[in-house]
Amino acid sequence: MNWRGWGDPDKARELPEPVVKLLQDLFGIREIPAVELGEVRLTPPALPKGARERLAAVVGEAHVRDDHETRVRHTRGKSTPDLMRMRAGDGSAAPDVVVSPGSHEEVLDLLAACEAARLAVVPFGGGTSVVGGLTPERTGFAGVVALDLARLDRLLAVDADSMIATLEPGLRAPEAERLLAEHGLTLGHFPQSFEYATLGGFAAARSSGQASAGYGRFDDMVAGLKVATPRGTLDLGRAPKSAAGPDLRQLVLGSEGAFGVITELRLRVRPRPVRQAYEGWRFDSFAQGSAALRALAQRGPLPTVLRLSDETETMIGLAKPDAIGQDAPGGCLAVLGFDSLQESEPRAEGARAVLAAHGGTPLGEEPGTAWAHGRFSAPYLRDSLLAAGATVETLETAGFWANLPRLYDAVRLALLGALGSPLVMCHISHVYETGASLYFTVVTNADLPGWEQAKREVNAAIVAAGGTISHHHGVGRDHRDAYAAEIGPLGVEILRGVKERLDPAGILNPGVLVP
Ligand SMILES: Cc1cc2nc3c(=O)[nH]c(=O)nc-3n(C[C@H](O)[C@H](O)[C@H](O)COP(=O)(O)OP(=O)(O)OC[C@H]3O[C@@H](n4cnc5c(N)ncnc54)[C@H](O)[C@@H]3O)c2cc1C
Repeated sequence: MNWRGWGDPDKARELPEPVVKLLQDLFGIREIPAVELGEVRLTPPALPKGARERLAAVVGEAHVRDDHETRVRHTRGKSTPDLMRMRAGDGSAAPDVVVSPGSHEEVLDLLAACEAARLAVVPFGGGTSVVGGLTPERTGFAGVVALDLARLDRLLAVDADSMIATLEPGLRAPEAERLLAEHGLTLGHFPQSFEYATLGGFAAARSSGQASAGYGRFDDMVAGLKVATPRGTLDLGRAPKSAAGPDLRQLVLGSEGAFGVITELRLRVRPRPVRQAYEGWRFDSFAQGSAALRALAQRGPLPTVLRLSDETETMIGLAKPDAIGQDAPGGCLAVLGFDSLQESEPRAEGARAVLAAHGGTPLGEEPGTAWAHGRFSAPYLRDSLLAAGATVETLETAGFWANLPRLYDAVRLALLGALGSPLVMCHISHVYETGASLYFTVVTNADLPGWEQAKREVNAAIVAAGGTISHHHGVGRDHRDAYAAEIGPLGVEILRGVKERLDPAGILNPGVLVP
């Protein structure tokens, strides 16, 4: 993983020189050079006497690392502010040491050792958090340990009768899919961070993938999980549904490493599709397209992938990152995808009829296939834009259908008000019977403080307009205050109570999630 950007550095995409010049003229920006890895400024590792030895006694010396490169590679996540700081060589959020446990028991022992030495612990999966979920509060702690879960990377069992696979949390999504494919199975979870994010991170941050219409969100897939906390083990989920009190799995899902470390997941799996097909549709307006998506979400039939770009996103071509600059169909582009277990796709005809009845025009397979082909490339484009001096960031929310237009307007107005003349694009990519998510991409010439101020204003606007502060990125540090406003003072007290009970010394990801 590129330590100051996204993904495989070999796949980096240079913007053509004329595009860079155009952007710089339009936005009044200039190229911002980035430092090299060796130039990132770190303070020397600071652990209390004997702490390193205690950690090594649990996992073995080879799995305790504090060299410059390892620390840099475990500093922050992948939000645009994270990348801007890394590009500038700011390693102030680096952990003192990176420790890699090989079992649930080792995690329990490490938590005990860290509690005794008053070390903050940051569970580290793929490191793709975009909400400051990997940047703990250091104050009051003797040091910070990044708990890299990469060694917990096994497929432990497949229960073909129940269609449940038991997997370890450090598995990256492509490797999990590869292991499941050997059994003819899939999770069907394909977020844009698919290539690097881990199963534990998906559960801890309540991720939602691009095929959520067909396979559901990641939290829908979790039948059970095992969690190591400073107070012992939680093992939850023993039936498909239960009336035995509140569902404690829900306390762990979305807990972002603040309540415990997920060490095992029992996940609902599906047969691998034999056919995947994509197609594009055009709508005159975002409102018209939204109505069509709502009809599919409420009355079906639901495709596996269902997304709709607004007018600006359609015009810029961001729905098809590989085709930016090519002719766009105007209006709003919708992309539908169908995974099926047979060569024919009976659902598609029904879905097409609904879209046509709502004023949609079929555009054939090309726009859908182009989206599917380029769907993991947009984050590389962000790096090129950052290098050119543009600030590009995404943010997301969700609301009930009746409130969605108000929410859309509120976010756009807040961004326009805070940033002057940014480019603001939006799409819907997760739909439910009762509502949908809104995912915004913003391109601006704001510097880091300017963007962070704008983000605070947008957060406030989302809360005021009745949306949730996050549909799938999570809370981290960046959304913590807005989350408090969303759940209210009593909700905050409940969170604090749970935290105090499971992690009385407060070592787990301090400053993240819990206000
Ligand atoms: C380019 C890009 C595209 C993205 N696209 C999507 C998308 O389409 N959909 C989506 O949902 N998200 C997306 N994200 C956000 C991110 O990928 C998700 O939040 C993902 O769930 C994080 O997984 P990870 O393994 O990288 O976790 P990390 O970033 O390592 O950790 C995330 C949080 O979970 C905690 N954590 C990690 N593992 C564990 C564990 N085993 N036990 C307890 N706590 C743990 C961490 O401490 C942290 O607070 C995107 C991010 C980027 C950078």
